[in-house]
Amino acid sequence: MAQDGPLLDTFGRSHDNLRVSVTDRCNIRCFYCMPEHPVEFVPRGEILSFEEIERFVRISVRLGIRKVRVTGGEPLVRKGLPELIRILSAINEIEDLSLTTNGILLEDLAEPLYQAGLRRINIHLDTLDRERFRQITRRDELDRVLAGVEACRRLGYSPIKINVVAVKDLVEPDLVPLARFGREKGLEIRYIEFMPLDAQGLWQRDKVLFAGEILERLSREIGPLRPAEDGDPLRPAAEYVFADGIGRVGFIRSVSDPFCRNCNRIRLTADGKLRYCLFALEETDVKGLLRSGASDEEIIGVIRSTVRAKWEGHEINTARFVPPPRPMYAIGG
Ligand code: SAM
Ligand code: SF4
Repeated sequence: MAQDGPLLDTFGRSHDNLRVSVTDRCNIRCFYCMPEHPVEFVPRGEILSFEEIERFVRISVRLGIRKVRVTGGEPLVRKGLPELIRILSAINEIEDLSLTTNGILLEDLAEPLYQAGLRRINIHLDTLDRERFRQITRRDELDRVLAGVEACRRLGYSPIKINVVAVKDLVEPDLVPLARFGREKGLEIRYIEFMPLDAQGLWQRDKVLFAGEILERLSREIGPLRPAEDGDPLRPAAEYVFADGIGRVGFIRSVSDPFCRNCNRIRLTADGKLRYCLFALEETDVKGLLRSGASDEEIIGVIRSTVRAKWEGHEINTARFVPPPRPMYAIGG
């Protein structure tokens, strides 16, 4: 047990947040994440089993991990996902278990996931306009996502957050309708600045719709916003509430104001690689250890050394920036 205790890097950051990707597959093709075709997926045998994920998570909680988010690719396309949620819900040390999904399969899966212990959910929805949804995702699935949102509201998921990727000259017409939708339905809308993680290398700085512009637009067209009093400064999202008390929005300023100095996250990819940053250029093979009979202590040693090697931060805003070799869907957003 001597190796238990917080997961510190050399900049003094303590890590309590783990993102677990359960698949790199997806049922839509958002242009800022996936190529349209062909998409090469990791062979099924290379994807961590639920038992392997459970072992890794149980080891991680010994190191202070308290928040676990299940993601992908699209996590709901992973067969039997409610069973993994049930397994993770039973780990008492996890204080915050959540899921990020595109919502397409939620109408059927929201209930089994809720019964398995899931309460917090982020649903990815950039627009309420059917044609723009099709343009962004290359699929005509808006109605199913909206049905998924309704299913979560009916079941009492809380919070329900909506992830909007803020791409310039594209989603401007959606900013206000989405915020109004959130106010009406009790959803927190989170605008995420477009990051250089797309598979086709389309990202350019001038395609990012910055949080400041969105905030200004919402204040002007809906009403004043003030910082949420319960907002957690360690969270990547800067959270605001409308001054009339109706509705909450968040801004993830990954490009205009990166949160690296407060970063408390590590990531496990679907094929069992540990990453200390979304943008990391290197990763550590954990699957090999899990499959070759390594002891928990050996795995702890590898997790600690990966975190110790963590850089100070990505350098999106400098000429030195190099995009990671894997796009978003293959890392786990
Ligand atoms: N498929 C699920 C989904 O779409 O929510 C989970 C995985 S997806 C990679 C996780 C989140 O990443 C999405 O909700 C989306 O908001 C965000 N995302 C994807 N590509 C992005 C990009 N290039 N820049 C910023 N956010 C991105
Ligand atoms: Fe799929 Fe999510 Fe990537 Fe969109 S952002 S292609 S839904 S993994």
